[in-house]
Amino acid sequence: MNAPVTLPGCSQPDSAQEARPVLRERGQREVFCGLTGIVWLHRKMQDAFFLVVGSRTCAHLLQSAAGVMIFAEPRFATAIMEERDLAGMVDAQDELDRVVTRLLDRRPDIKTLFLVGSCPSEVIKLDLAKAAERLGAQHMPNVRILNYSGSGIETTFTQGEDACVTALVPVMPAESADAPKQLLIVGALPDIVEDQFLRLFDQLGIDNVGVLPARDARNLPPVGPNTCYLLAQPFLADTAMALEGRGAKRIDALFPFGAEGTTGWLHAAAAEFGIDEAHFNAVVAPGRERAKRAIGHARGALEGKRISFLPDSQLEIPLARFLATELGMEPVEVGTPYLHRAHCAQELDLIPPSARISEGQHVDRQLDRVRADKPDLTVCGLGLANPLESEGFSTKWAIELVFSPIHGFDQAGDLAELFARPLRRRDVLEV
Ligand code: SF4
Repeated sequence: MNAPVTLPGCSQPDSAQEARPVLRERGQREVFCGLTGIVWLHRKMQDAFFLVVGSRTCAHLLQSAAGVMIFAEPRFATAIMEERDLAGMVDAQDELDRVVTRLLDRRPDIKTLFLVGSCPSEVIKLDLAKAAERLGAQHMPNVRILNYSGSGIETTFTQGEDACVTALVPVMPAESADAPKQLLIVGALPDIVEDQFLRLFDQLGIDNVGVLPARDARNLPPVGPNTCYLLAQPFLADTAMALEGRGAKRIDALFPFGAEGTTGWLHAAAAEFGIDEAHFNAVVAPGRERAKRAIGHARGALEGKRISFLPDSQLEIPLARFLATELGMEPVEVGTPYLHRAHCAQELDLIPPSARISEGQHVDRQLDRVRADKPDLTVCGLGLANPLESEGFSTKWAIELVFSPIHGFDQAGDLAELFARPLRRRDVLEV
């Protein structure tokens, strides 16, 4: 049995949260790998193509995760490494050059090409950074070629987005010396949600707003010391570090889930940009009230119910806060694969002290705790949901929370409903 360890690179101590105990674990994991992020990233960046350098397993994962959404030529593919590649019998770099050249000849619509590493490419130490540099020099200015890792070695699936967006940071243009202060929203949001936020910032009077990743990956916003960035997702630790390396400053905020989370997120930006409080309230009040009304429909099903999160999407901390503060749920255990104490500081402060916070994964121990705690609802990965259901537990698939639009005022009711539905279904089945 593995002893609990502190995961490297996580849990930087933060004065406000130092006292809160966190159970740290490491062991067997049951999560998707970072390739999964391609499913939503290829929809977001409409001029980008994702070429996974991997095995048939990687191709199957992508195909089954995204297959149902393919209605035209997809903007992702897998360059499948065969046994002779893995055995080093051919020069994998030459093979890759041939595949990329053929792809770019056939698809002139591709303006940014991501070479995405996988477990097999990492095991044979195929240097995709070198390949991206070499091929980039060949295909610029028509196509920009970048690389990142989506491998499942020591990662969880939302880190695929973090790695991809981090790869964009070095190619963001530098802001000019006299650039006005810029707000940068960071994290891939569905277009409809992004548009809602952009409208709200415009109404607030914050007009210089950039978005990362941008819909047009070749038209990235500038970055520099006049940029203040606001994280829309809690799983962008490396992206945040890269942005800070370019001089940008993080705005500390709640994440925009629910009426209060969204208000807090917008308010943090408004305060940073010196927006008058009365004006802020006037702009935000209608959306906030709409969200509260919509959330109210799920309150009957959720209030007083106990919920456990198994570590999966890294959304667990802000979602537990939302369910506890806005719906009266009782978080029993909030497990997250990686905990960024600074980014989640405001969230952690609002999670009731009775909740057990855990970081890292040891699936057997976590399942034992679920059995002992007997929560009304368990949020977990796909692979754990069926076994738990067969033991009589109600479950919610964590990945559905990543694939659904859940940020902002107008999605708050749907977000609450995602948790209420399994409990209502159980009530119906029990009648
Ligand atoms: S990257 Fe690794 S974990 Fe992901 S599908 Fe490929 S082999 Fe499996």
